[in-house]
Amino acid sequence: MRILVLGGTTEARQLAALLAEDVRFQAMLSLAGRTREPAPQALPTRIGGFGGVAGLADYLRAEGVRAVIDATHPFADQISANAEAACAAAGVPLAVLSRRPWTAGAGDDWRRVPTMAAAAQLLAGLLDTVFLTVGRQELEPFLAMDRRFLVRAVDPPDVLPAGATLVLDRGPYTLDGEMALMRDYGVGTLVTKNSGGDATAAKLQAARSLGLPVVMVDRPPAGTAPRFYTASDAVDWLAAHSPSAE
Ligand code: NAP
Repeated sequence: MRILVLGGTTEARQLAALLAEDVRFQAMLSLAGRTREPAPQALPTRIGGFGGVAGLADYLRAEGVRAVIDATHPFADQISANAEAACAAAGVPLAVLSRRPWTAGAGDDWRRVPTMAAAAQLLAGLLDTVFLTVGRQELEPFLAMDRRFLVRAVDPPDVLPAGATLVLDRGPYTLDGEMALMRDYGVGTLVTKNSGGDATAAKLQAARSLGLPVVMVDRPPAGTAPRFYTASDAVDWLAAHSPSAE
């Protein structure tokens, strides 16, 4: 059964490892090509955009794909919308493999906002230095702001707010490391997207321990495809859609 996995995440890598060992499936992993040195993958990999909805639908038909797993990042909303539309057009079942969103607990001081632009507006009432862990492609709303920023990203951003300090790092991060970083740079406010997952959650524990406010950008609205939070659940869904199960 031919499978397409839309990837670029830890969850997609975990799914790729399971599918590579599973003789029921012949899977292809697709990456956008944004990361300069992508981690090694267990599956054959294609890199680059498909050319919108029509390009992806053509790909599904041409390759005889029987099911798609959208395991892209929760904030990669364009490719997820394209996957919904292309799968509907090509008559191919689609499911989403995601990571659970973070939720605020006792001791957290979260200010939830719907967009990155709203996060930037909210900073007016909050303390410097602002620690931006939003991804290198999400910095635009902060560029013209006269504030002290600490920016952390995997790859160098094309543009940075004036006077920002850049830290390049990939994680996973530890509580001790995050607390030391925030103390060293005198961080007063953390800004993050609600990406979820364990690898980058330590910054939230650190902010809680240090009594810092967190500006939390909520996820974009989800589509209608079934959603799973573990790679093995996604494999079970694929098995249920295999020709032998029909
Ligand atoms: P996006 O805005 O949703 O997608 C923009 C375009 O990039 C899509 O229309 C598509 O081009 C292409 N694309 C995206 N993901 C693709 C994939 N897996 N395979 C082939 N083409 C893909 O995406 P983004 O937010 O720039 O994210 C790009 C990639 O980085 C995604 O794979 C995502 O999982 C990963 N990532 C994103 C974030 C984030 O915060 N956004 C964080 C970590 C990792 P065409 O229309 O030409 O097909």
